[in-house]
Amino acid sequence: MHSDEAAEAQVAWPSPEAVASAEPASLTPMMRQYREMKENHPGAILFFRLGDFYEMFFEDAVRASEILGITLTARAKGADRVPMCGVPHHSARRYIARLIEAGLNVAICEQVEAPGPGPGIVRREVVRVITPGTVLDEEILDAGQNNFLCALSFGTDGAGAALLDASTGDFFILEATTLAELADELNRMEPRELLVSQAQLADPELHKLKGLLAREMAVATLEREAFALPKATAFLKRHFGVLSLDGFGLEGRVRGTSAAGAALRYVKETQRTPAAQVDRVCVLERHQRLILDEATRVNLEVLKTLREGAKKGSLFGLLDRTLTPPGARLLSRWLTAPLRSVAEINARLDGVEELSKKGFWREEMAQALKAMGDVERILGRLSAGVGNARDLRCLCSSLNAMPPLAALLDGCAAGVLQSLAPPLTVFAELSATLLAALLDEPAVSIKEGEMIRPGFNSELDEIVDLCSSGKDYLLKLELRERERTGIGSLKVRFNRVFGYYLEVTRANLHLVPEGYVRKQTTVGAERFVTPELKEYEEKVLHAEERRSALEQQLFEGLRAQTLRQASSLRAAAQAVAAADALRALAVSAAEHGYVRPTVDESQVIDICQGRHPVVERMLQGEVFIPNDIQLDRSSAQLVILTGPNMAGKSTIMRQVALTVLMAQAGSFVPARSARVGLCDRIFTRVGAADNLAKGQSTFMVEMTETSNILHNATASSLIILDEIGRGTSTFDGLSIAWAVAEHLHDHIGARTLFATHYHELTDLGREKPRVRNASVAVKETDGKIVFLRKLIPEGASRSYGIEVAKLAGLPREVVQRAREILENLESGEWDDEGRPRVAHPPLKAPCAQLGQEVLHELRTLAVDSLTPLQALNLVARLQRSLRDEASA
Ligand code: ATP
Repeated sequence: MHSDEAAEAQVAWPSPEAVASAEPASLTPMMRQYREMKENHPGAILFFRLGDFYEMFFEDAVRASEILGITLTARAKGADRVPMCGVPHHSARRYIARLIEAGLNVAICEQVEAPGPGPGIVRREVVRVITPGTVLDEEILDAGQNNFLCALSFGTDGAGAALLDASTGDFFILEATTLAELADELNRMEPRELLVSQAQLADPELHKLKGLLAREMAVATLEREAFALPKATAFLKRHFGVLSLDGFGLEGRVRGTSAAGAALRYVKETQRTPAAQVDRVCVLERHQRLILDEATRVNLEVLKTLREGAKKGSLFGLLDRTLTPPGARLLSRWLTAPLRSVAEINARLDGVEELSKKGFWREEMAQALKAMGDVERILGRLSAGVGNARDLRCLCSSLNAMPPLAALLDGCAAGVLQSLAPPLTVFAELSATLLAALLDEPAVSIKEGEMIRPGFNSELDEIVDLCSSGKDYLLKLELRERERTGIGSLKVRFNRVFGYYLEVTRANLHLVPEGYVRKQTTVGAERFVTPELKEYEEKVLHAEERRSALEQQLFEGLRAQTLRQASSLRAAAQAVAAADALRALAVSAAEHGYVRPTVDESQVIDICQGRHPVVERMLQGEVFIPNDIQLDRSSAQLVILTGPNMAGKSTIMRQVALTVLMAQAGSFVPARSARVGLCDRIFTRVGAADNLAKGQSTFMVEMTETSNILHNATASSLIILDEIGRGTSTFDGLSIAWAVAEHLHDHIGARTLFATHYHELTDLGREKPRVRNASVAVKETDGKIVFLRKLIPEGASRSYGIEVAKLAGLPREVVQRAREILENLESGEWDDEGRPRVAHPPLKAPCAQLGQEVLHELRTLAVDSLTPLQALNLVARLQRSLRDEASA
């Protein structure tokens, strides 16, 4: 901090109200500098570097202190008080993370020259602006997830989006014909920030799109020009150093290209980075992937669980046996965007099959993978100028682990594994240089030396010698002076303000010799300098400075050398990620007893002894019962699945969907054998939940999801419908369920599993040629039900809902009353509006106390065949049980 800056003291601020309204009468030069910076970055909280702190002022201070829970003070000099709060620069990352988490941007303003001794203001500059979609800091990022910025461009001709993860260099564009399609993709990729042109900020289409998104996203803007096609194209061409973008498949993709140009510009401008890690842009084609919409991803708990939103308990949580962050990110993308090409799926399956059989190979791969860092994100940081020597050191360990991994991959038979080896074998020179150059644990800061290994640079070695011989010299000087003066406690010390000095305690002051020049008095001692000490200081301090500067320069050289290979490094990182993800699937296959599915172009799904991958691992003390399921467009296209509550209907349906998803993602599946005819989409309509935030009732959500399915499903889709029409009255619900099933059979032809408690729907099996009935069996013994979990090829006649309610602990009176009402219903009594006459009053008091068993016995009694004696005995027994019941 500058001397006149240091003079401005901090005092406690009187009250938050006063703070908020405070405006200084006149600003100091430094505060003017602050204001200037702030005016250039009005949308960000400005972190203004002052010595060892980042300070915030004015409205930023008020806002940030609230979010961060730190004390609001004031920078005061007479009447010029302004609200202020600050955070130490060494722990700033954690505070920045919280502000970003709160959806704010943070502009980092650094001192860009060393403070001089005289008055005047240090030059400062905003070195980067951190926004939710452009974060590079590993402490803020989730290692297992991409962090996308998403630029949008839409109009009457359609919509385009560019998704750029600045931390990894992943850059995709996609185009959609409808907003719903676009929202679907955004919900899958979960960008952290949207970018639109200023002109489109007020566009009703943007408003509509936001309404379709599953979560809130921060919205940033750029001037309209940045999105203009010629400007965007020129910007991208310059960045990639190409004459045409056709090589990336951008030809004719007007919306996608304009969004991509704007996204890249935004990242480069906010991060002040050349973005060397962004070396290509890929077009995402919806029709090349198995599409899982938001509802399906959520219902099938692909990445997180429905209730807790946790990874544990989800499909990803089960299959994620990756050992590197890029591997985990890739696997999560494979599971949310499975493939739709038999050849590509089989290529992955070949890799998984080979590794699943080679346990030793998997172990050897694990050793190499465990030594890998997050190379993609290291590159992102180095390229943006925020990486340090530790990043290079970690990169070096990763590079060293690549040749052994390459050798393992090269020794495999599967083409997909072999093809991953070559990108890992081209870094011998870089890795040798980094190994020779960097200490094992280099300093975090790049400005204070302690990064470079002795022997790497002779000039540096000389300076380091000078510094350490200087320290020897100081020790000797201290001893010499103690002897000369007779002051045993005399010490040579150093501080930033006075440099080196000799400290003498008060009791020994009378022994201080001639030639000692007093510099400062402290509580118990006095501090002196001598000409010899000053001369030494010149030499050593200068050497320390030269050392730091030279180390920084050497670090920058190493960084530049590394970034020259950014493209190959990214290719290597992606190869490592793929090897890691394939290995993870192989580990799951081997450990959980999965089999290789047969994937083809047929319209069949034939699963023999299939299991639910997650439920089978969660069962405690119970064995999972496998089941066979066949769906076939030409015969068993629509299966009506009935059966008691809790029997396992939802589990079976989800396990079919998950088996298809896993197979198309290239994973082995939980079954004895499985054949999967490619699906283009999986739709699920499961459970009931309202979306009050979006103004939709439970039934409205149910119908909206059903309507989405009926409009978008094709003959190649797989549809899972659980309980259609349950959110309304019985007759309405049954009618809707019937009509939906009919439509799916007659007009869409998609393979469908339709679970319902409307047993009337089983009649469809008699009417429609491709409808089959199935149910999950239960056994009833002694009035108790036993769940067999076995799928049988016939419809169920009862739901046993009341028995299940009893198992769940519903009060006894309620269960009894429900049984009475059920009987009323089953005797077929309906009123004029089609509602059953359920409101028969409860049976009178004595009867109400009769046990269900007694009533049952009376009802089913064959009176004609009773002898008088039997009748008498029966009456006596019933009377006894009534008495017992009354006294119970
Ligand atoms: P409801 O109609 O009430 O929604 P359901 O028929 O859909 O019920 P599920 O939710 O699928 O029933 O299953 C209930 C529970 O039964 C599961 O949570 C699981 O613990 C167990 N279960 C399901 N299927 C099996 C199986 N095949 N083997 C063993 N346990 C199973």
